[in-house]
Amino acid sequence: MTADIPMGGAAIIETVGDAVADAPPEPGLAVECISLVHLYHLPDNDVVALRGVDLDIDAGEIVALLGPSGMGKSTLLKILAGILRQSAGRALVGGRDVGRMSPTELRKYRAVDVGIVMQDPLANLLPYATVAENVEFARTGAEAYGTRPQMAVGDLLDLLGLRQSADRPVSVLSGGEQQVVAIATGASGGGRLLLVDEPTSQLDIFGRDRVTRALHDLHRETMATIVLVTHDPDLAASIARTVTIRDGRVGAEGRHGSQYAVVARDGTIQLPPEILDVLPPDTLVRLVRHVDGVDLRNADMEQLVGTDEGEEHG
Ligand code: ADP
Ligand code: MG
Repeated sequence: MTADIPMGGAAIIETVGDAVADAPPEPGLAVECISLVHLYHLPDNDVVALRGVDLDIDAGEIVALLGPSGMGKSTLLKILAGILRQSAGRALVGGRDVGRMSPTELRKYRAVDVGIVMQDPLANLLPYATVAENVEFARTGAEAYGTRPQMAVGDLLDLLGLRQSADRPVSVLSGGEQQVVAIATGASGGGRLLLVDEPTSQLDIFGRDRVTRALHDLHRETMATIVLVTHDPDLAASIARTVTIRDGRVGAEGRHGSQYAVVARDGTIQLPPEILDVLPPDTLVRLVRHVDGVDLRNADMEQLVGTDEGEEHG
């Protein structure tokens, strides 16, 4: 195994390409977050970034994390990537507790099992190296552990529409294309969990379309689990499951465009902002059970209008 950056992009494609076995891809890694808490310790105070995230993601699922900035989304990705150790709670990836891995296990986990694409595409790339060199270099970590990524470099470039640019330095590409290359480097090691932080935030509409297509193509072909963070409504709308992180917890989930509140493991539910207008903090609510579920009734309003339910329950 050599860790050198090969010099000829085209040559890499020829030697490594087209030799992929037809075996179906291994399933992605399931993710389970259990009461995940993270505090950043600052000199004067602590910042609570995550305050009890419960989240299950199936093997091979693609999920978009949404929510305003500062709500803990990047922190969550970094914990799953094994870059940051949580303060409390557990993060299981493929059933393994990332927070309990030894430094040796973590190094292998980061090289082989997981790929992360940071928000700024150039943070993931060697700007003066070509596209093919970047993608090739990104798998040397996995190869050093004797793993042969399922998809050859040439096939990955083809899949993501990068073949034409294979021999161009990354620095001359458009922002959208750089981001697709960054995604290719995240996927290059063949990790069965791919984490992508705000891939379209700095792109125009064409770049955003290109990146959205790349993520879906990659997901379809590799069946890896993909967790991405986005503010982009179009990208979010293209993904069947969305999870909104609010105040360091799972605030809501979207399934095929419909929004749902989520009952957390501790039994709490976050009310969405539009409901907080009707039921502001400190409101006493009565929970009225019926066949389809439970209504929340403002107790003050009930007294004002003197509802019939009061008599039924009295
Ligand atoms: P998001 O990705 O949703 O914007 P982050 O996970 O980046 O949120 O941040 C969550 C909170 O943690 C924010 O209040 C942010 O200021 C704080 N934070 C993030 N990184 C650090 C850090 N390295 N040191 C201190 N505070 C941090
Ligand atoms: Mg962020």
